[in-house]
Amino acid sequence: METVGFIGLGNMGAGMAGNIQKADYPLVVYDVRREAAAAFVERGARLAASPAEVASLSDVVFTSLPGPKEVEEVALGPQGILEGIRPGGIYVDLSTSRPTLIRRLEPLFRAKGAHVLDAPVSGGKSGAATRNLAVMVGGERAIFERIKPILDAFGDKVFYAGSIGAGSVCKLVHNMIGHGVRQAIAEGLTLGVKAGVEAEALWECVRRGALGRMSFLHETLPRTVFRGQYEPPSFTLALAYKDISLATELAREYQVPLPVAALAEQLALEALNRGWGELDSSVIFRLQEEAAGVEVRAPQVDPQRASRFISTHPEA
Ligand code: NAD
Repeated sequence: METVGFIGLGNMGAGMAGNIQKADYPLVVYDVRREAAAAFVERGARLAASPAEVASLSDVVFTSLPGPKEVEEVALGPQGILEGIRPGGIYVDLSTSRPTLIRRLEPLFRAKGAHVLDAPVSGGKSGAATRNLAVMVGGERAIFERIKPILDAFGDKVFYAGSIGAGSVCKLVHNMIGHGVRQAIAEGLTLGVKAGVEAEALWECVRRGALGRMSFLHETLPRTVFRGQYEPPSFTLALAYKDISLATELAREYQVPLPVAALAEQLALEALNRGWGELDSSVIFRLQEEAAGVEVRAPQVDPQRASRFISTHPEA
């Protein structure tokens, strides 16, 4: 079994390193907070004095650090991973970091005969502790395949995303969408409560509706946007515009500012003025494709397969 090095034993790292240790990989650990390593050492891990030492003792080195600043310091700084890594060694960054940083690191490691992957994770501290994590991996596919059993030791949803940096791009996109959705939920729930509904009832209604099973993500995208096909509509843009303008009207009545909803309403109106009223409401996506100068197509995705995920994960 490979010897695994782990640097950064915080909220996420402690859980992931714990699951690697449970899977019986020999472990070498390091954290600037020495106390973070104590429990691992008690269970038989070796404590290293620097990232360079971790790398020199390991076949595969993981980092789970706060962000790009720490990743750069630990990878390239004095006594850093690059100094200690062996030829053939593999460095995997699990942090949420800058895609261009890992793309800059990769050739420096390659020059020493070592490999680099970026593999940010999603699932939170509890997911890290319970092996309920998505792992989004960028880098050479053959290296990914080689270390997949170690990734499987701490992640139950391990995805190969593409070349180096692809995992980090996926993770940033994932989180950015999450922040936008969170703001939209905040707007909706404040409007609902101010308009006289109990918070719990509102929450139940919202999560039990189509939104609660993320139908746009799982069902609509593969059926419409991925094919560039908005007919036949399952819900027309004209009806969607009516709904969102009723919500912003209610918000004006109750004096609730809705910045995201206001933007969504304006975009829906623009799409309507293009003459798209009788198309599926997801056609609004086309405006963003035009603005970004890119098309999001994946006609090979089977909408049936995509929506089956939902029936097995009703709360997803
Ligand atoms: P954390 O602050 O709890 O852990 C970071 C660890 O790195 C700490 O133990 C810290 O002592 C250590 N560290 C910092 N600088 C170091 C250095 N120079 N050398 C060695 N060790 C060093 O952070 P976290 O919540 O575990 O997050 C880690 C990464 O995972 C971040 O990039 C974060 O964005 C990402 N992430 C976090 C969550 C979450 O819910 N917490 C979820 C998904 C992804």
